[in-house]
Amino acid sequence: MRGYMHNINKTDLIQLFNFPRQRILQSMEVTHCPHAVFFNQSDEQCITCHQGEECLWINHNDEMVALEMKSVDQLKQQLLIAVDYIDSNLSPHHMSRRKCQCENCRWLRQVQMTLDGKA
Ligand SMILES: [Zn+2]
Repeated sequence: MRGYMHNINKTDLIQLFNFPRQRILQSMEVTHCPHAVFFNQSDEQCITCHQGEECLWINHNDEMVALEMKSVDQLKQQLLIAVDYIDSNLSPHHMSRRKCQCENCRWLRQVQMTLDGKA
């Protein structure tokens, strides 16, 4: 019974993490991070870092994390953070977003469809 809200495929959700993971890592100034993007909660540098939010996301969702062990709700929550991130980094010429074919917009639509159970 696909197509119902409560029946979202975990594998579909997990493969959606690849794109924002790449984008976030690309955008981060990894070379300036003394911890090689390993968030350290007890380190003041990490807590006050301007890349803190992105860094936390990466640490929760990188390829080494067993995403398949997380619940669909947890995955959805993390995915929505990534949606916010990708959405806020769209370039300003995205006037007609529904027709836009850039990789950001394609990914955003894919997420929407998956969360709606239409993927
Ligand atoms: Zn676009």
